[in-house]
Amino acid sequence: MPTLHCPTDPVNRPTAPNAMTPPSPELRALIFDVDGTLADTEAAHLAAFNEAFDEAGLGWHWDLPRYTQLLEVSGGKERMAHHWAQVNGGVRAIDGLAMADTLQRLHDLKTAAYERQVARGAVQLRAGVLALIDEAHRAGLRLAIATTTSPVNVSALLRRAMGPDWMARFEVIEDASTAPLKKPHPQVYRQTLARLQLPASACLAIEDSANGLAAARDAGLATVITPNDFTAQHDFSHALKVLPQGLAGVRLADLQRWHAARTVATA
Ligand SMILES: [Mg+2]
Repeated sequence: MPTLHCPTDPVNRPTAPNAMTPPSPELRALIFDVDGTLADTEAAHLAAFNEAFDEAGLGWHWDLPRYTQLLEVSGGKERMAHHWAQVNGGVRAIDGLAMADTLQRLHDLKTAAYERQVARGAVQLRAGVLALIDEAHRAGLRLAIATTTSPVNVSALLRRAMGPDWMARFEVIEDASTAPLKKPHPQVYRQTLARLQLPASACLAIEDSANGLAAARDAGLATVITPNDFTAQHDFSHALKVLPQGLAGVRLADLQRWHAARTVATA
């Protein structure tokens, strides 16, 4: 009589995928954050904020440590509102509409200043970004952008850094105009996945900050982190991979290997 395999015996339980284990989804799309991930933008943003404060005659100036703190707050207007609340902590009489108008005007000044920075060539793509995007594009992976920055900031940067046809590389672009809830809210990633019509398990997010990581993870995405000087101290313990040197030298095969390992670990 042949020896029968007993499926309830933990010693003999098969470890290979079976009918109950969904097939490992292949990596089909990369979803990129912009600020700090595709490009080191924060120094230019900081200079632009200070230019706007000077133009408005506010007497505000953010230094590097202060700005690093304020980066915990996603979104330019939200960041200024947070600062405003702190410096005017005791003032309760500010008219809400007047404050909103002032923030909008400051933000317009800041956006114009940032565009001037970009036009001067003050912002470059991070090392390895373009090579990886091109390799992934050639290999048939789908590429997307999930940022909560404004579309004018994104296009100013990427037009300059990638050329006038930069949009052709990205099948889906979600930004502040389509996803108003800032990271760490996962809205921008959920909408990106919906427009790609892919499950989160078939994609990787590339991010540089704790807020970005939280947003991507809440949308179910494994996330590769490329920290920078402004975010190096963030908690990235839930990232799939942290790359202190950024994407320089990282090939598509590396991403595919990390993504596959993640799938096996969570199957
Ligand atoms: Mg970022």
